[in-house]
This record gives sequence, structure tokens and C-alpha cells, in this order.
Amino acid sequence: MSHKYIFVVGGVMSGVGKGTVTAALGRVLISKGFKVTAIKIDPYINVDAGTMNPVEHGEVFVTVDGDETDQDIGNYERFLDANILSVNYMTTGRVYQSVIQRERNLEYEGKTVQVVPHVPNEVIDRIERAAHHAEADFVLIEVGGTVGEYENILFLEAARLMRMKYPDQVRSILVSYMPVPAAVGEMKTKPTQQAVRMMMGAGLTPDFVVARSALHIDKPRIEKLAMFSNVHADHVIGSPDVDSIYKVPLLFEEQKFGEKILWSFGVEPRQKTGLSKWKQMVGRIENAKSEVKIGVVGKYFSTGDFTLSDAYLSVIEAIKHASWAQGKKPKLVWLNSEEYEKSPSKLKELSQMDGIVIPGGFGSRGVEGKISAIRYCREKKIPYLGLCYGMQCAVIEFARNVAKLKDANTTEINEKTQHPVIHLLPGQEELVKDKSYGGTLRLGAYECKLAAGTVARKAYGNALIEERHRHRYEFNNEYRARLQKAGLVVSGVNPDQDLVEIIELKNHPFFVGVQFHPEFQSRPMNPHPLFVGFVKAAMRK
Ligand code: GLN
Repeated sequence: MSHKYIFVVGGVMSGVGKGTVTAALGRVLISKGFKVTAIKIDPYINVDAGTMNPVEHGEVFVTVDGDETDQDIGNYERFLDANILSVNYMTTGRVYQSVIQRERNLEYEGKTVQVVPHVPNEVIDRIERAAHHAEADFVLIEVGGTVGEYENILFLEAARLMRMKYPDQVRSILVSYMPVPAAVGEMKTKPTQQAVRMMMGAGLTPDFVVARSALHIDKPRIEKLAMFSNVHADHVIGSPDVDSIYKVPLLFEEQKFGEKILWSFGVEPRQKTGLSKWKQMVGRIENAKSEVKIGVVGKYFSTGDFTLSDAYLSVIEAIKHASWAQGKKPKLVWLNSEEYEKSPSKLKELSQMDGIVIPGGFGSRGVEGKISAIRYCREKKIPYLGLCYGMQCAVIEFARNVAKLKDANTTEINEKTQHPVIHLLPGQEELVKDKSYGGTLRLGAYECKLAAGTVARKAYGNALIEERHRHRYEFNNEYRARLQKAGLVVSGVNPDQDLVEIIELKNHPFFVGVQFHPEFQSRPMNPHPLFVGFVKAAMRK
């Protein structure tokens, strides 16, 4: 079968869950026997998400092949249960960068290089490359932002050109928001009608409209929307708010969204819908009643008056997956590490948690608070899982308070520390000096060898694992022997670089720090073993 392309664009406003719709539809198509991949297009100029503040943009998701992408790629991985590679992610900056590079390389053979068609053609090229690479039957392409924005117009132009190129192989879906104003009490379709007009202005007609709303769209509104939007009433799909995003594929299946897509391409399903494993997983979510209380200590929580947790999306999902698999309902508590610096007596709140996670981070703000929290977990035997910075801080804490290396630190915080137990990775010094920050961290999957008899080895059940990374600093091997002598267990090491990847403590219910980001590999149907080990320990507390 030739590749089929489905563009997913947004209407009315952003943040309504286009990524979830895309990912959930992907799962439905997989369940009918097809190979599916998903692409994310982000309209900003940044070449990747690596240089963006997570409070503004959400989590930076890292692919196996070391790209720093939008968090939606993580959603695709979790729903499709597959690794998504760098070819599946593009930004305006990235697209322009390669057009300009090609021009410099005389690849346009002396032609005037123009915004149209050369930029949309580059977009199409990339989409086709991703389709080919994944050998996908269906390629879902989510265009960031909403129709009518100046920023994503070139991507909509690519969709239009692609439809001209392959009329039978391209469809588009408008995911649009339907407000239910409190004063009116009725779902309003007008903003979506306008979004459809704008989409038409860009030369695209939606084949389907997904109605995102607090409520399920009813028949009169479906008919109204269909009439004003040139779509068949059967092609208006309701997507009301649900308590877990993992229910969305089931919601789509009830409305035969998958079949309707297939019919629109003239394709027959290859198998009877295979969502039973997915349903079982959703069943576990619903049946989990008793709570396990996990505190997440971090700093990327608030912007203005709002508290956001998107910065730690994959960490949250990984905790959820592991908890559900144990029949537990995770209760996440956000703990701001800066508070512990101002008032150390607040640390006591940690003992009300069943377990503590400290996720990745950068810079000095709140770091001493994290180190104090780790000390509290170590001394009071509260299960602790440290991810990346959370591992580095655990090493610092151990060095200072157990190995008695006063003033031990990472050179990220204090370049002149007497005991740089965490220091720059080889080769990073020059990069930092040149301000060469973009895409230059140690990124992507690397191997890690696990030591026998350790908590990590037991959790993984394997001696050799691969995990994803995103860091500029590392454990300083000059301190390895000294810290080990003081009782620190080095349970995982990268065999090629002899880089310490996992540390843990003995005589503690669970105290593990990892230099990598296991959260990126956790899937709802396949929770990550370290998170499972951690949650089990938390349940025992
Ligand atoms: N700031 C640390 C480093 O660069 C940790 C990074 C992280 O937590 N992702 O090594």
C-alpha cells in the first residue's frame, strides 16, 4: 500500500489536545492492522526544543537518536508504542536551515530560491522521508498552532501541495474547540465554523472535524457544523474531556473514527480491531483505587498565577504507568525546592510522601533545596528516584554529608569548588566557551552495563540496557573510589566511556539515581522497570 498522509491542524485555540487526538487516532489505526507513524511540525524558529524554557514550552522530549523535540513526540511514542526518530520532527528554523544549506551547496542549480515553493517542498521532502523510513501505511502529521496564524501558513501550504501531488493519499482533520459559555449553557460551533473558513482560505478543506469540548457534541450541533463546514455529519467526531487521555482511542473507536478514515481512503481494515490490550490497560486505570503518594521536587512549576506541570510530562506519565501496573492510583504532589532553602523546617512534609522523585534540571535556582530534600530521603529512608540532575544532586549530597567532602558540588553551580564531584563531560569546555549550546549536550541512547547484585540490576532483570540522555555534566571518576569507599554503590556504567550512569545506596528501601532519563521509555502498556521498582518501594512505605 502507498503511504497515506493525514494532516492534523488546530482551530480556535491551542492547547486543546491536538497531540492526543493525533496519537490516539494512530493507536486506533494500528489496532486495525496498519503501520503508523506520526510527525510533529512546530512553527517556531528554534531549530529544536532544546534551547527553550520548559515553563514556556513544556517538556523537552529526547528521541533515541538524540533529537530534542516537542513533548508531543512523547505522546506519539506512548500511544503508538514505538520509537519516533528525529526525521519525524521539524520546526520552521530547521526547515529554513536546510533550504539555506542546500542553496549554499548549489543544490538548486542556480535557480532563485523562493519561500514558495522551496520551503514547502522541503517540508514535503521531510514528510516523505519519515514515511519511507518508518515504512508507514499511515503518516499522521500534526501542524502546531492554529489555522489563521502567520507562523504555520507554510506548513498548510505544504499540505495543500501534497494533496495536489497525491490527491487520493492525503486527508486533513481539523481539531477544533467548541466552547460551552457558562452564561449560555450551550455548545457553540461558530468559532469552529470560522476556523474552517480560515482553513479553506489556506486552500484546504477538512475531511473530518474533531470537536474538542467539555461535553460530547450532540446531534443538532453536529448537523450545524456539517452544514457550515462542508463536511459530512458522519465526519464530525466528538472528543469531550476525559479523566485519562488513554481513554481517547476507545472514544474514537466507539464513533468508528478509524473505519471512517479508512473508508475515506477506500482502504479495508486488515484485522478486527485489536484494542483489547489497550482496553485492559484502561481498565487498570479505572480499577486503581488506593493511592500511592509521590512527591516531585522541582522548580519548573509556575508561570504567573498558573501552576504547570507540563515541564515534567514524561516523568508524570512514567509514575502513572508504574502505579497503574501495581493497581495503585498515583497521587502526585508538586514540591517546590526553593521553599526548602527559605524554610528548612518545610522538609518535614517529605515524610508524608510514599516516595520522592527529583527530575532533570539545570542551573542553580532551587538546587540547594533539592540537595536538602535528598538528604532527608536518605536519612529518613524515604524511597528516592533521582533522574539526571536528581542523580547528580544525590552524588553531591552523599559527598558532602557522608564522605565528608565539605563544599562538594557540580561545576555547573560552583566552578571553583574544592571537590567537583560532578564536572563537565569531555569536549564540553570548548562548546560552552564558544556559546555553542544548541544540540550539543550528550543526547540520545547509550548503553549502560549493570553491576550484579544491585537494585538496578534486579529491577531491569538484564545486564546491559540502553537509555536516553540529555546532560552536559557527569560524575567525576576521580572521586569514584573515594565515594564507593564511603558506601556509594555504582551500579551502572557506560562501557565505552566508563561514565557512571547509576548510583544507589545499600540499607535503604530504595535510593537510586540515574544519569539518564528512563521516563522517556515508559509506555502505558509497558511501564519502566525502574519506576516500577520505585513505586513498589513506595507502596511498602
Ligand atoms: N544540568 C545537568 C547537566 O547538564 C543535568 C541535566 C538534566 O537534568 N537533564 O548535566
